[in-house]
Amino acid sequence: MNGSTILVINCGSSSIKFALIDTGADTQLVSGWAERLGQPEAQLGWKTEDARGSQPIARADHRGAMEAIIDRLEEIVGSRYGGTLTAQLAGIGHRVVHGGESFTRSTAITSAVLAEIERVSHLAPLHNPANVLGIKTAQALFPHLAQVAVFDTAFHQTLPEHAYLYALPYELYEQHGVRRYGFHGTSHRYVTRRAAQMLDRPDADLALISAHLGNGCSAAAVLNGRSVDTTMGLTPLEGLVMGTRSGDVDPSLHEFLSNQLGIGLADVTNLLNKKSGLLGLSGLNNDMRALEAASAAGDHRAQLAIDVFCYRLAKYLAALAVPLGRIDAMIFTGGIGENSALVRAKTLDHLAILGFRVDAERNAGHGRQSNGAITQDGSTLALVVPTNEEAMIAADTIELVRQGIAEG
Ligand code: AMP
Repeated sequence: MNGSTILVINCGSSSIKFALIDTGADTQLVSGWAERLGQPEAQLGWKTEDARGSQPIARADHRGAMEAIIDRLEEIVGSRYGGTLTAQLAGIGHRVVHGGESFTRSTAITSAVLAEIERVSHLAPLHNPANVLGIKTAQALFPHLAQVAVFDTAFHQTLPEHAYLYALPYELYEQHGVRRYGFHGTSHRYVTRRAAQMLDRPDADLALISAHLGNGCSAAAVLNGRSVDTTMGLTPLEGLVMGTRSGDVDPSLHEFLSNQLGIGLADVTNLLNKKSGLLGLSGLNNDMRALEAASAAGDHRAQLAIDVFCYRLAKYLAALAVPLGRIDAMIFTGGIGENSALVRAKTLDHLAILGFRVDAERNAGHGRQSNGAITQDGSTLALVVPTNEEAMIAADTIELVRQGIAEG
């Protein structure tokens, strides 16, 4: 693991997810999470290829949690690979949710870059401040190490104006940055590149639609390696039905619900983000696995939630064919996209108009025996491509570290 090991950090307001990746061997050595930070129940968990564990880190704040993570990693690295983590780490890659229009690619973090991430934080007030805290904590612990920011929005900065502008007074865009940014960019970039490798074609000559279906869901149209449209907007609430998010609703809904329910705007926003989607429709769960089981057992609302999810998804995937002109492949990824044969089949059945015909056996096997393909020969191609955002963040980080060394 010498010289090519990257620590990937995804820092939230009360949690830190991390992964230690050997970019040379393209392997994840350790992954883990610290959660419920600041509370008595704070926990640190980790897993390696063949072992896992957890420990209490009561009341640890972000700094305390990061120190506990480093201690744990030092132990694992020392016992498994020899030497110390700090001696072998080449850099730290941070997931940053919002880069506004300032960041079109992953960027080495300088004080000016950090200030700019803070300046655009009003666009993601729940996420960017936590990401910044993660960067500052890592800088304090590893002052001599290169730190890189990898933005969820960056991949979508290639959207043309007609795709990213809302039909609102133009001044709102100019003065307040109101436009569609899109998210999940790291995942869409990773799976579209992987698809190009799997198809053995250059990604500079491919028209792909990628559906990232996890607890959050978005789809993107990617033409010749560049994102040309996507379903999320100014915030991650726009577009598809998600675990607890509504996706698109009538823009008048805020006022309507505020009047009907006598609640404020913040409560309506909370309802649309936290209590809607699969959870709201089913009244049961935001978890697709649980809904599939409940639906199979005859629960009508669970069935309904799945139906709405797949219908909306299909409609938006069809819309993403517009900027492409053709579809070389449709990609399913994320927890649902990679594992739910039911969702994929239902969605592609709605898309027969675009030439999709599911192969039941390939789909049931999640494409693992057919180079990702889940469609019949002669059909428009649909693929399952497992995502790996941590690997993408690590790859960007090591590339920038190497460039820095070359330039320095
Ligand atoms: P992610 O956010 O990418 O981890 O994805 C989480 C979503 O994937 C949840 O809705 C899970 O229920 C769903 N998921 C994971 N495994 C399966 C599975 N085997 N079948 C259906 N949904 C799954």
